[in-house]
Amino acid sequence: MPKINENYLNLKESYLFTEINHRVAEYTKNHPDKKVIRLGIGDVTRPLGSDIIKALHEGVDAMASAETFKGYGPEQGYAFLRDAVAKYYAGHGVSIDPGDIFISDGAKSDTGNITDIFGDDNVILIPDPVYPVYVDSNVMCGRKITYISGTAENGFLPLPDKNIHADLIYICSPNNPTGAVYNHEQLKAWVDYALENEAVILFDAAYEAFISDPELPRSIFAIEGAKKCAIEFCSLSKTAGFTGTRCGYTIVPKELVFKASDGRQVSLNALWNRRQTTKFNGTSYIIQKGASAVFTEEGMAQCMENIQYYKENARIICDVFAKKGIRYFGGEHSPYIWFECPNGMDSWEFFDYLLNNAQVVGTPGSGFGENGQGFFRLTGFGTRENTIEAMERIEKLL
Ligand SMILES: *Cc1c(COP(=O)(O)O)cnc(C)c1O
Repeated sequence: MPKINENYLNLKESYLFTEINHRVAEYTKNHPDKKVIRLGIGDVTRPLGSDIIKALHEGVDAMASAETFKGYGPEQGYAFLRDAVAKYYAGHGVSIDPGDIFISDGAKSDTGNITDIFGDDNVILIPDPVYPVYVDSNVMCGRKITYISGTAENGFLPLPDKNIHADLIYICSPNNPTGAVYNHEQLKAWVDYALENEAVILFDAAYEAFISDPELPRSIFAIEGAKKCAIEFCSLSKTAGFTGTRCGYTIVPKELVFKASDGRQVSLNALWNRRQTTKFNGTSYIIQKGASAVFTEEGMAQCMENIQYYKENARIICDVFAKKGIRYFGGEHSPYIWFECPNGMDSWEFFDYLLNNAQVVGTPGSGFGENGQGFFRLTGFGTRENTIEAMERIEKLL
């Protein structure tokens, strides 16, 4: 009989989206005449840009003839795409060696798989509330987690506590679910702390393309010293609408070198390369062709058009909360608006209240960690029409 990985038994059951669907289904069954609007979606809804579609077609056509056919590609990704990503960073003033870039099928896999290259007895800091993958992937390998609190008081942007030593630090900025984004000075505080503690920051930049203020860092590598203490994960999911198409990348600088217990100097880039070449056979050539069009001038302009659409929805949502004097976070450099439930309601109470009285569906903040209790997430990923209608209903209700 196999011994199972019993760490999986320690995972908290993820009721969040099942429970939401259950409550919405129940409501629609009892009120078939009511139009329910979903503003809880964490997924993009706009189609891919036409240049990306064209490049995907070219990728498919290449498979049709022996001269251009592609079999296994490099596990790290094709040079044309790694170079394009490096050029994209250079455009934001951040210099990245294409050799430090690993193309993948998305940031969820990489943020989850990165646990492979670290040992079991690290002190791991994870913010609460946050994207649940960081917590669950560590629980799956039996690791202990120390939480750092995001609260209304710190703007859901916790800063390092000099009295706590950490080895690994997860940061997501702009944040899912709170939409909060660290400024340069705050991220520098984390980089300085990591350098002092010889810690590694695992930085999730999935929403970097939503940042429009040039003063705000879009990459941890915009901070001096970060190449000695940080790995960055990014994805085309939110940047280019690739949630169903699947492509991302992870940057592991060669400067990340740490001493093993036998005294050897070990490069994290080499370990990740070994991990990927052993367990991953690369992202599909067709998808990488499509992804390369994201980084052309025209392709990026098409992506930004979609992002502007989502951001305008977010603005419409924020305006109502501002008008109603409801404390909210995010919504400016993020598709997410995170707000305090009115009248002291807890997250699920407010979910039911909103569903029953405005027929609007959102996401209870308590699903993202203990500190999310009493908060609620709406997103700009809906259609313009639905966003306007939902916010008119909410404005009347609150
Ligand atoms: C959506 C999202 C991602 C992207 O995941 P993919 O696997 O690339 O689709 C990564 N991190 C966060 C926090 C996200 O919300």
